[in-house]
Parts: sequence; C-alpha cells; structure tokens
Amino acid sequence: MRYNKAVLKAMSDNKKQKNKLEVRLPVVVILGHVDHGKTSILDYIRKSRVAEKESGGITQHIGAYQVDCQNKKITFIDTPGHEAFSAMRSRGAKVADIAVLVVAAEEGIKPQTKEAIQHIKKTGIPMVVAINKIDRQEAQPEKVKKELSENDVLVESLGGDVPSVNVSAKTGQGIDELLEIITLVAEIKELKSDPNQLATGVVIESKHSDKRGVTATLLIKDGTLTNKDIVGTDSAFGKIKTMEDFRSQPLQSAGPSTPVVITGLNQVPQVGEKFLVFDNLDGARTRVAKKTAKRDIAGGDSKEVLVVEEDKKVLNIILKADVAGSLEAIKESFKSIPSDEVILRVLKSEVGDITESDIKLAVSGQARLIGFRIKAGSAAKKIAEQKKVKILTFDIIYELIQVVREMLSKLLEPETIRHELGQLKVLAVFRTEKDSQIIGGRVIRGKITKGVSVDVLRNSAKIDSGRITQLQRNKKDADEVSKDQECGLLVKGASKIEKGDTLVVYEEKRKKREI
Ligand code: GDP
Repeated sequence: MRYNKAVLKAMSDNKKQKNKLEVRLPVVVILGHVDHGKTSILDYIRKSRVAEKESGGITQHIGAYQVDCQNKKITFIDTPGHEAFSAMRSRGAKVADIAVLVVAAEEGIKPQTKEAIQHIKKTGIPMVVAINKIDRQEAQPEKVKKELSENDVLVESLGGDVPSVNVSAKTGQGIDELLEIITLVAEIKELKSDPNQLATGVVIESKHSDKRGVTATLLIKDGTLTNKDIVGTDSAFGKIKTMEDFRSQPLQSAGPSTPVVITGLNQVPQVGEKFLVFDNLDGARTRVAKKTAKRDIAGGDSKEVLVVEEDKKVLNIILKADVAGSLEAIKESFKSIPSDEVILRVLKSEVGDITESDIKLAVSGQARLIGFRIKAGSAAKKIAEQKKVKILTFDIIYELIQVVREMLSKLLEPETIRHELGQLKVLAVFRTEKDSQIIGGRVIRGKITKGVSVDVLRNSAKIDSGRITQLQRNKKDADEVSKDQECGLLVKGASKIEKGDTLVVYEEKRKKREI
C-alpha cells in the first residue's frame, strides 16, 4: 500500500472541493548567459533580504532560498546555471512558476540567452526580464530591449507584455522593483495548492557527506511535509531523520513552495526526481524497485553510452561533482555535443571527491578524470601522479563543456584541403620502372615544385597518381619550375604515364576541425 485510505479520501474530497485550495508562494528561477550576473543577483537578494541574525551569519547553499517582499514570500531556485533548470525540465518536472531572464546591459543577447528564452517558452511559465549591470557606463538597456524583441520577447515599454526592470547586482538598483514585479506576476497567475494533503515535490539538490550521510533539498510543490514522514523518489527512499529550512533551522512541517533540507534517504537521489510521501517504508521501497527496473529495461544512461559504433572514436570520461544538481546539469549539457563522428562516453558519474578507485578506473578505462567544484585529496593526487592520470577540475560548467569539446575535437580526423599548384603537359617518357617513371614536360599552368603529389589525367580522367621526388631544369636540379618552362621529373608511384598526358600537381594541407 502506498497511500493510506484516509489520505486518498482526503485527496479525492479535495478534488471535489476546489475551495480548499490556498494561495501558494511563487517559485522563481533565474536564467541567462554566463557572466551576465545570475549568481550576483541571487547573492544580492539573499544578502539584502535574509537578515544575518536569522541565518545565524551563515547562509548555506542548498539550491534554494526564500525572501520576504512586502510580507509576501518568494522562493528562489539557486542552482548552478540554467543547465540545472533544463536538467530538471527534461525529467518532466515543472519546478518554477516564474523565470527571470538576466541580460547584461552592455553585452545584450548571447547564445545562452537565446537558449534560456527557448527553455522558458517551452515550459510556458511567465518571464520577467532583468537588464543587469545597469551601473556600467557601457550599459545600453534600450538596445537590449530591441534585441529581445528580435527574439520574440517584447517588453512592456515596447508595447509587449513582458515586464522588464533595469537592475544592478552591484549597487542594488532596481532589485526591489524586480521583487515587486515577481510578486505581482505571481498574484496575476493565481498560484494555488492544497496544504492539507501529503507532500509532493521535486529534488532540487542532493549530496553525500561523511558527516551527515545523504542530504537532499526538496522543493515542496503541493501539500505539507512533516519531519516524521517517509519519502521516496524514483531512486531513493527513507524516513526523514532531520528536516531544516534554508537557514539550517529545524522544521517540524513545511508547506507548498518551501525548500527543505532533509537527511535520512538511503541513496543520493537524482536532481529533478519527484518525491512522494508514503505510508510505510515498504511502499517507498517498492516504488524505487519498480522505477529502477523500468530504467534498466529502457536502458539507463550507462547502457546508452555503451552502444558504440565501431568506426567512431570514443572519449571516455569519469565525472565527479559536488552535488547531484551539478552532475545532472553537466550531463544535460553533454547532450548538446554532436556525436555523429566522435562519442563522449561517461564511464562513471558520481557525487563526491576524487578517490583512488576513480583513478584506477581512469587507467583501466583509458578515461579522462573530470571534477566539478571538488578537489582531489592528497592521497588521490599522489596516485594520479604515479599512474600519470591527469585530473581536470572546473568551477564553471560552461568551461568544463568547452574543454570536453576541445578534447573531442582532437579526436576528429583533420580535414584535408587540396590546393592545386600547377599543371604539366607530358612531352616524353624517358624511362618506366615498376613504380616510378622519368618524364619530360612543359608547365602549362601555375608552377611545379619538388616533393608534391600528382594526379595523371588522360582525356580528363585520372588514370594514375604519384609524387615528384626529383625535378630538373636544363639538366640541373631545381626546386621549382614555372609556367611555360620545360623540365625533367622523377615521379614515384606512377607507372602509366604516356606522352600527351597531363599531370596535375597539388599540395594537401590538413586542417584541424572543431566540434
Ligand atoms: P553568472 O555567470 O550569470 O552567474 O554571473 P556572475 O553573477 O558570476 O557575474 C559575472 C561578473 O559580472 C562578476 O564579475 C560580477 O561581479 C559582475 N557583475 C554581476 N552583476 C553586476 C552588476 O550589476 N554590475 C557590475 N558592474 N558588475 C556585475
């Protein structure tokens, strides 16, 4: 049994009586191009709106926080970049109610801005534009608005319905207005939920630490979660041991749109997984088992990447990250890397520091070891040095993806670019060996140099090919012979040249390609 009867009855009663629904707080996600100020805006709001004494001087990073705006609360999702948001979206979880699109006033629309616009539009949630860095001299907010309109985002001042605010995460200008607009948009949207039922929601961050075991940040979407509940996600379950708010304060219960940090789960759940409350541990365990079986049949991540076509080159990597959110975000970003010629195979992806076993796997699996916001301990570093395994660590997803792309690009066969140097008409064949010929001819176009390749043409069709290894003019060695001059040459590799044939002389340059 997964739900008790009383709960099921309460749920169906509730469906009949919509008036039981209560106003829910908005959940907001901040998206935009790297370096446009997402983190700075989130930091500014957190610092200015969460009183120091309230947070005990420490505002720990749990992937979400809540602030007050004119006695109304707003929940901000504070995950690394919009990749995390798209990871959550891809898991079918609609996490946020409102998206703030951050665009730097001096830079305007960039590739990730466009991606963010598409994400928001696909999700169908309302958007508020924050034109950031307005304090900078180079700021051109009107230009940004025009660029936005070219990307189907028409702000209010240009006659559209998307609110936009000029802000500065440095000076704080416009931040209050931004928060007010968010509350207004939330009111218009009439967000509702029922706090009088068992909680459901989404995992927005998770990790494992030696001290506390598995901790997970859950965002409650509906219902109320108590600190005695049994929760289960697709991959983890357990009875809640501790439950805290984002300021590390113990909580007995929490309602819709509240982020909470819980301990007590048996595994690190994946970001974006939905959670439910169960009547007993068996129910939760059964659900996890069923979901796992389903994933195995469908072929989870690990199986997918193992299907490799033989003619493709493969880059194996081992990925370690600070929290499950980062891991998800990185793996989601990997999906945008083209795989038609070279394949990126993630041998292992895990939350936690780099360990000896990671290094061993890197050696046996010929894999690159990549860490995100983590460090290798001194023991691991030593082994890595001994085994000559290079550990690459990053703090920014965008940079990690760039470096992986570069590594993949190195595996691509370089492009060969052929450049024709000249043509020669064969006037005589002096000697023919098994795989070389000595001939005489006149340069009819361009020039001919020693050491280059030739195609032999007869009636415009290629009949042979070779390489010029000796070149003579007036019986003396020459490096180069120009148009209208006659010369003698030794063509290695050719055996079919006859008087009257045309030799096309060319160079080949190899050009690196990029993914
Ligand atoms: P994110 O990648 O979008 O999270 O961007 P960050 O918040 O890390 O900001 C990138 C850089 O821009 C940092 O050096 C910030 O100090 C700077 N920055 C962010 N907001 C502002 C702002 O309003 N004014 C100015 N002058 N600099 C800003």
